[in-house]
Amino acid sequence: METVRDLLLLVPRRYLDRTRLYRIRELKPGQDATVLGRITAVGVILTRNKGELVSIRIADDTGSVRVVWFHRPELKTRFRTGQTILVSGMVSEYRGLGFVNPEFQLIDQEEFHFTGEVIAVYPLTEGLSLFTLRRLMRTAVDQYQRYFPETLPEPLRQRYGFPAIGPAIAALHFPESPEAGQQARERLVFEELFYFELIIALRRRAHAQLRKGQALVETGELTSRFRAALPFGLTRAQERVINEIRRDMAATSCMSRLLQGDVGSGKTVVALYALLIAVENRCQAALMAPTEILAEQHFEVWQERLNRIGVQCRLLTGSTGTRLRRRVREELADGRCQMIFGTHALIEKGIQFHNLGLVVVDEQHRFGVMQRAALLNKGLNPDFLVMTATPIPRTVTLTIYGDLDVSQLTEKPPGRKKVITRLVSETRRVEVYRFIRARVSAGEQVFVVCPQIEESEKLDIAAAVSAYQQLCQKFPEFRVGLVHGRLKSEERMKVMAEFRSGTVKILVATTVIEVGVDVPQATVMLIEHPERFGLAQLHQLRGRVGRGTETAYCILLLPASCSPEVVQRLRYFEQTDDGFALAEKDLELRGPGELLGTKQHGLPDLKFADLQQDRQLLIQARNEAFALIAADPLLSAPEHQLIRETLKARYVGRVELLRVG
Ligand code: ADP
Ligand code: MG
Repeated sequence: METVRDLLLLVPRRYLDRTRLYRIRELKPGQDATVLGRITAVGVILTRNKGELVSIRIADDTGSVRVVWFHRPELKTRFRTGQTILVSGMVSEYRGLGFVNPEFQLIDQEEFHFTGEVIAVYPLTEGLSLFTLRRLMRTAVDQYQRYFPETLPEPLRQRYGFPAIGPAIAALHFPESPEAGQQARERLVFEELFYFELIIALRRRAHAQLRKGQALVETGELTSRFRAALPFGLTRAQERVINEIRRDMAATSCMSRLLQGDVGSGKTVVALYALLIAVENRCQAALMAPTEILAEQHFEVWQERLNRIGVQCRLLTGSTGTRLRRRVREELADGRCQMIFGTHALIEKGIQFHNLGLVVVDEQHRFGVMQRAALLNKGLNPDFLVMTATPIPRTVTLTIYGDLDVSQLTEKPPGRKKVITRLVSETRRVEVYRFIRARVSAGEQVFVVCPQIEESEKLDIAAAVSAYQQLCQKFPEFRVGLVHGRLKSEERMKVMAEFRSGTVKILVATTVIEVGVDVPQATVMLIEHPERFGLAQLHQLRGRVGRGTETAYCILLLPASCSPEVVQRLRYFEQTDDGFALAEKDLELRGPGELLGTKQHGLPDLKFADLQQDRQLLIQARNEAFALIAADPLLSAPEHQLIRETLKARYVGRVELLRVG
């Protein structure tokens, strides 16, 4: 916090309602209550894990209760018997009725005037007491509140009953009731989401106005041959999504579409279908993947089939050798190469396309939507399809991906069985290996995934190498393979090809195989240190198996020293097969940060909004913002000047959006 503005925009964690004081006799478990009492005893208890627990007893003329604080050793010198104290918090039943870790205030004459109010409680830091902070806040509110410029036009505020900005800032910190404080917070949340969604709405409009050279209308020349060559029929969901894509591509404006589908729902086939529509129209088509291993796989799996129906395709990644790279570049520039598979190497400087009609970005949650900006900078306006296998909670599709149309693959190919997931203690490793031996002897294959170690890829690889050596020793009768991010491309492709063909039985890998890898005969996914992964990530890994007809297993090898919360989280994973539910849980447990990655998307941070809790406000703000842009895309009407100016002032650098259009 550096400025008065920062101070005034500090959102209280919660409000304590001191307008009502409880008598000790009235307290009931679960109640949020404030009592005023006298300290009758003070003690410190050493807890089992060497922590100190500060415990006091307080009394009023109706009775007494115990109040304890865990992990607050600094409190032991604060209390003396005879002091008057105000305690606020949830009444609990921890060893008798009382309070655990409540807010409190020692009352002397000077501070007594705080009683009988609604008190805003802030996140504090050492050396900063609530009392001091509130005193600063009082001054700041009184002297500076009026300098806050209004950002929401009056009619909009009235529609939702929001206070003007000045009164909202005042009520945020010194509300008359907890509800009034809550309403002030909602105004700030709404405002934040409204401007966020305005940016999204402007982006979406900018996308919709991007013109590509030609409408890409399916002729069936390639797609029908492709269909006939597939060893399976498309699912209803795949047909539906292909229809949505077909419609977009046939328009002269650019497609901007997000395809979501749980792991294994068959997104790749849909992508290829779309790529072939582009090629049918004499355009080039590109499939970009976030990792080399995935780009290589797509290429390996599909190039032959594509060649057979007369499509020339190539692979281009960071590991492509100089000579081949030169050749691929030439072929891209003169149009001989019709379909290209690759990584971000595809959009590097110096790569020219002859006539790029469609780009599909696979697994884009790792990739970032900014790739499109890079393409636009090259003067290319292809149709654009991004695919993600991490199901995205609706609140997130409405924000980060709010500028894209969304398609969903809602069903998996027929015959898929649920992957049997088991949490197993590391102490039972021998049994797990016995199980692996049995599976491999039955002709099946196994992934062993090594954990991520901090931020260091080097250590990751070291762990994978030692696991590999150990497994080679344990299973001398089977071929064991190893892949990681630093392997040379040819080496990695060789190992993957051997795993795909079944020569390699057990594949040890770092998380490079997290996304996209598709080897249907693999039936066992063994994950070391599962506690180091997010739920969505675990789900990705589990999705590598269960793609064939055999029963598949996902084994999480759990170290003995895991905390109960970790075990609980992993139990939830064990019991939940639904990627959406897991993504929601991740959002709840870990917050939106990682999932949102707003920066990566060139969007402002969300400071006030909690996407789960403020879902309703999000939807309202989105509707308002989109309606506004539909009615007045350039925000040129006089009554929208306030919004236009705010947008400019606040989101410098992003206003170019106002110019597109
Ligand atoms: P993801 O959506 O995770 O990218 P993939 O595209 O890798 O899934 O497909 C998973 C597996 O399902 C692949 O082996 C693919 O060949 C197969 N598959 C895709 N569509 C169908 C279908 N309609 N019927 C049967 N198998 C299918
Ligand atoms: Mg995939």
